Amino acid sequence: MEAHQGKSRGMSRHLVWLRADLRSIDNTALSEACRDPEAEVAALWLVTPEQWRRHGKAGCQLDLELRTLRELSVTLEALNIPLLIREVPDFAAIPALLLSLCQAEGIDRVYWNKQYEWNERVRDKAAADLLRANGITVEMHADQCIIGPGEVLTGDGRFYSVYTPFKRNWLSQIYERGVRVHPAPLKRQSAWTRPDPVPTSVPGFESHVPLPELERLWPGGESAALARLEVFTDKHARRYRELRDFPALSEATSGLSPYLAIGAISSRQCWQAAANELAAYGPSADIDHWVSELGWREFYKHILVGFPRVNKHRPFRLETEQLRWNDDEEAFQRWCDGKTGFPIVDAAMRQLRATGWMHNRLRMIAAMFLTKDLFIDWRKGERFFMQHLVDGDLAANNGGWQWSASTGNDAAPYFRIFNPKLQSERFDPEGNFLRRYLPELAGLDNKRIHAPHEKQRDFLLDYPLPMVDHRAACEETVSRFKALGELPVGRADNR
Ligand SMILES: Cc1cc2nc3c(=O)[nH]c(=O)nc-3n(C[C@H](O)[C@H](O)[C@H](O)COP(=O)(O)OP(=O)(O)OC[C@H]3O[C@@H](n4cnc5c(N)ncnc54)[C@H](O)[C@@H]3O)c2cc1C
Repeated sequence: MEAHQGKSRGMSRHLVWLRADLRSIDNTALSEACRDPEAEVAALWLVTPEQWRRHGKAGCQLDLELRTLRELSVTLEALNIPLLIREVPDFAAIPALLLSLCQAEGIDRVYWNKQYEWNERVRDKAAADLLRANGITVEMHADQCIIGPGEVLTGDGRFYSVYTPFKRNWLSQIYERGVRVHPAPLKRQSAWTRPDPVPTSVPGFESHVPLPELERLWPGGESAALARLEVFTDKHARRYRELRDFPALSEATSGLSPYLAIGAISSRQCWQAAANELAAYGPSADIDHWVSELGWREFYKHILVGFPRVNKHRPFRLETEQLRWNDDEEAFQRWCDGKTGFPIVDAAMRQLRATGWMHNRLRMIAAMFLTKDLFIDWRKGERFFMQHLVDGDLAANNGGWQWSASTGNDAAPYFRIFNPKLQSERFDPEGNFLRRYLPELAGLDNKRIHAPHEKQRDFLLDYPLPMVDHRAACEETVSRFKALGELPVGRADNR
């Protein structure tokens, strides 16, 4: 007698647990689960609202995930791979859920792609231990990076903390090994169950960006991600280095970060598109630069694994734990609301609120303003970003915040503080970006728009005065950093 309905003797049942890899093409765990042509395969995605709340997950990101899953479910169903959806409150409840699902459905093998955040790693270990203890085979695959954490190490076997030597090593390993993109799996002979409906929303995770706008800006699915990659590499990549710092030019960068964050596209697919472009049309420093940004993405993932404390709200540079950040809720709120009186900072924050995304240069400017001009704890800004970003990603967000706050590895030196007005004049010289997000300044000329009240207060403008004196604030910040005693970073590497 068969223990499980429809399962014939000798047939294997495999489960692919999807997490930050919501795609059918170049998904290592999915390809491996489908390697045995006889096996029946199902995919699983888990709703974990309590855990998401703790992680500050943005509603707009969840919405992109759900829309991507809807497309993926249809793609997988056509391959006879039903997508199952289950809900548990948090990560702690997952091992038991997986075990009961496997036991109920007669699943022999479970596959997933590794995630590198601390809580995710603890969860995966607990899940793997429990499944294995019950006779179920678990396969975990490296998939999120072109070269995974632990494989790009210094000569003496340590994780790099500086990007340039990391990148050199990372690139040479990529060229040595080559990059292989897996095709989508072949159709299975049969499916043992039907897919579950993908929810349209999860209570408590409403998007702060109106849904039609979110959908227009960030259409769901791997097909949208691949189309965006193609347009970028075909039309814009060869001017990337020249134009990438100008936030008014919305096509100058790829806009792929939301898709990379949820895994609707892989970094290998991005690499391959860049490599194809180089092979077809010759060398390009712009495309090399874009690849280097993919390298930053991977570098910060390596940092999560090599220096676990950065997962746990601790700075990379331990001496900066002595800093006494200002506890000023009102100032923080003005920054969140885009009402600091510094147009480039305010336009940046309003872009985040309006679109769920912020241009990279502006992320640096806004983060530096919060931490250096207002001297507010980077962790508050990091969480606010996470709660509003459609591309929220612990590694990149933490890396970007610690870079801006000068608490991180390979960070901006604490005495090199961006001047918001000069940044604005340099990277938005005609004020086009400012006018897009600050309609109250639209009538100002290209010079005044960067600092409307600089010469004298303009009472006719419905725009706040600068909330701090930039120069005085910087002097204070530099003196607070200067007062820190330096702790040796190397000794504390693995805390
Ligand atoms: C304070 C701060 C917070 C940030 N938070 C996030 C975040 O939560 N999620 C996120 O994906 N990126 C984050 N970044 C990095 C960067 O701003 C975005 O990845 C980038 O703006 C995405 O735009 P794009 O896709 O057009 O990038 P492109 O310029 O086209 O670059 C291609 C890809 O490379 C990666 N990348 C580019 N720049 C960086 C970088 N500096 N660090 C790490 N990866 C990078 C991204 O995956 C990006 O999609 C943050 C940066 C800062 C300074």
